[in-house]
Amino acid sequence: MIKKTSKKFVIEGIEVKCGERSRINIDMGSIYDFTDVNMPLEVVRGKNDGPTLFICSTIHGDEINGIEIVRRVLKSNLLKKINGTLIAIPIVNIFGFNDRSRYLPDRRDLNRCFPGLKNGSLASQVAYKFMREVVKQSDYGIDLHTGAFNRCNYPQIRANISDEKTRNLAKAFGAPVIIDANLRDGSLREAVAQEKIPMLLYEGGEALRFDENVIETGVSGIFNFMREIGMIESKVCPVNKKRVFIAQASSWLRAPKSGIHKISAKLGQLVVKGDVLGELSNPFGDNKSLVRAHENGIIIGISKLPLINKGDALFHIATSSKGNYFDSEVAQYESLENVDPINR
Ligand SMILES: [Zn+2]
Repeated sequence: MIKKTSKKFVIEGIEVKCGERSRINIDMGSIYDFTDVNMPLEVVRGKNDGPTLFICSTIHGDEINGIEIVRRVLKSNLLKKINGTLIAIPIVNIFGFNDRSRYLPDRRDLNRCFPGLKNGSLASQVAYKFMREVVKQSDYGIDLHTGAFNRCNYPQIRANISDEKTRNLAKAFGAPVIIDANLRDGSLREAVAQEKIPMLLYEGGEALRFDENVIETGVSGIFNFMREIGMIESKVCPVNKKRVFIAQASSWLRAPKSGIHKISAKLGQLVVKGDVLGELSNPFGDNKSLVRAHENGIIIGISKLPLINKGDALFHIATSSKGNYFDSEVAQYESLENVDPINR
């Protein structure tokens, strides 16, 4: 039986009571023209007890798909009856966002500056404040990202799936690919793991673009996650019944020579080592060289800029050490080689 919550919730010195929604600006200081900078967030508190979940986007200032995901989640009627508290932050790196840049004005990557320092660099101060006001009040987290400039990513979850709780959340989310990703020094994911808070990183699409498929998968994934942790009870969200590719590793296929790249492979395509993914040629279309998959796996990222020098990253391929898929519905393993090449 869920009882009415009595826990006091205060963020940036402002209390949000049970059953209330509130938009709050987190003070991020000012820039050199004396303009004040704020990181706006919205807190949605249910009338009933439940976990606290944060959803954040745009730690990299040019990765904007997550902003639209957060906006659609906040507009949903499902939030009218939640258990617990949702903290939604559409733009964490407000400095980079206004510059249409991945970085902060001092060229630092915010996702290498966590958990931050109160009086550190600008990035470090943002990280510190985010940890203090948001992460340390949360039981769970979802961090939304997008591929880098000119690189498009297939919708994917990156998480520490050796932890059973996190693995179950990753499966519940319903993205087509889950990657058991190592923690990076200074990342939000590493700092959140230190606090023993399960967090998923969802990513898809490319920088400075909205991608409808990535956005829809992200929105339904967040509601699937909320249902899994008991924040919502509705069963109206579409659950991904397709098989999920669980990868233990990933690597970039690099250009074997310089040239203009005609891409023939698609995101989400299953490939076997040796499959043709593209073709490099000179400006007249001669001197062709085929680009072939270097691993068995699934294409999770494509570099879309066709102007290539030898060694440039072309395709990001996720691989499973078992060479298998995991089918989330029937929990069966299927060998990659048995998949019809048309569906690969
Ligand atoms: Zn990112």
